[in-house]
Amino acid sequence: MFSSSIQKYITDNNFATFTAKAIFFDMDGVLFDSMKFHAPAWTKAMNDIGIAFTEYEGYMNEGRTGHSTIDLAFNREHGRNATEAEKQEIYRLKSRYFETYGDSPVMPFASDLLQKVKAEKREIYLVTGSGQASLLDGLQVHFPGIFKKERMVTAFDVTHGKPHPEPYLQALKKSGLTPAEVMVVENAPLGVESAKAAGLFVIAVNTGPFDEKVLWDSGADIVLSSMQELYEKWDFFL
Ligand code: MG
Repeated sequence: MFSSSIQKYITDNNFATFTAKAIFFDMDGVLFDSMKFHAPAWTKAMNDIGIAFTEYEGYMNEGRTGHSTIDLAFNREHGRNATEAEKQEIYRLKSRYFETYGDSPVMPFASDLLQKVKAEKREIYLVTGSGQASLLDGLQVHFPGIFKKERMVTAFDVTHGKPHPEPYLQALKKSGLTPAEVMVVENAPLGVESAKAAGLFVIAVNTGPFDEKVLWDSGADIVLSSMQELYEKWDFFL
């Protein structure tokens, strides 16, 4: 199944070959089991100011910048974008709720997979829309020696969040590699869209509440049920 997905990617893009020299990892919902905190934090913050917003929407909008998510909800509720002051207030509320949940657990098998990829001498990149300091700092604590600053793209590096291709295009530029040399691990529909818009091969791990069809429809080349499944099948397709 995996080899046929890769073969299809090679054929569709007219590549001569495909070798994954680097793996681009998303953070929330891939390395940290943090979406179960982000999603309700968004719901509570929006509800506090009288805007309807479900946790499922929180999952569906994962990857957007905070401001973009707020504008989306404001346009639906009020037919306009939020003001700067409103954005700051809602984002402050959201971050405060997020912090009340405590530290996000490391996603099971994330560390095992990163160690395996490192041992295979493939480069490891982080490509996240997050600017959450507690999680970014946590990378060095929970995955010591894995992530290097020059191989990270975060909310602070981009103008456009996912689903825009900018985050993945920036990582590609930093790596100096071509789309025939990179594999992406994502969990969110908009994250998959972003990576596909950048022309990359995407493995989606369904760690959220979605029917897997949602991830196939967003363009994923492979959809797996968990990071554990990806870890256990890694050797079969690379
Ligand atoms: Mg994610």
